Amino acid sequence: MARRQLSHCLWCSHRCGVDRLAGQRGPCHAGPEGRLFSARVEVGDESDLCPVFAVAFSGCDLRCDFCNTGRESWDASAGSVAAGPGKEALVARIGRAWESGAVRSLMILGGEPTIHLASVLDLVAALPDGLPLVWKTNAHGTPESHALLDGVFDCWVADLKFGNDDCARRIARVDGYCARVHPNLIQAARSTRLIVRHLLMPGHLDCCWRPVAAWIAASLPGVEVSLRTGFWPGWFSGRHPELRVPGRIGEAQEAARIGIEAGLRLIE
Ligand code: SF4
Repeated sequence: MARRQLSHCLWCSHRCGVDRLAGQRGPCHAGPEGRLFSARVEVGDESDLCPVFAVAFSGCDLRCDFCNTGRESWDASAGSVAAGPGKEALVARIGRAWESGAVRSLMILGGEPTIHLASVLDLVAALPDGLPLVWKTNAHGTPESHALLDGVFDCWVADLKFGNDDCARRIARVDGYCARVHPNLIQAARSTRLIVRHLLMPGHLDCCWRPVAAWIAASLPGVEVSLRTGFWPGWFSGRHPELRVPGRIGEAQEAARIGIEAGLRLIE
């Protein structure tokens, strides 16, 4: 089904409908074959998921200037074909890491893996039984992509990056961000374990984190919230004066206080 849908792709909220099998490209620039730019054990994610075997797909449908893997995340042609000659070796590496107890879970991420759903499902189908599967997403998907993902992953780690559409438009060049992402998070929470992740951006405490915390408290009470405070001014952060500095300790403390006051279930 996923491969067929590549001929009229509606997987992310751009809903551009291009025929990727015929060589057309949408705003994500992705072709029919998903590509990988990284596959390794990592320890920087939420603590009860770690260590994770993280498999990162190239390309993304958003253009966040602060992206910490910008070069590969903005280039869907980076890396190697997921279904190529290295696939069997990768599956074997993942199997060994899982069976030896070196990892607790397998995380599929990007870039944004939603734009490569056919290749993602192809890879996941080859993985060992029992390995907990984590879907790391920007939550900018659609009902069409959610239908393909239904029941596949044990946990979603989904970003809620912006608290308003203006910041999303200015920093990630996407329109209608909140109206697209909010329903996706609610839908994800109905079908799987959901961790909502927010990267605290310098200078965005009041415009982004405060409304994000208020929305989660009202719309997803009890959901796990991962407030990430280690902002680093990489990639094109310099385009935005407030993003030219690392995250500040004082803002991180104030953000935690806001989250606690909102009644959020903060996790690390
Ligand atoms: S993933 Fe999004 S941008 Fe890319 S082709 Fe599909 S609908 Fe278009």
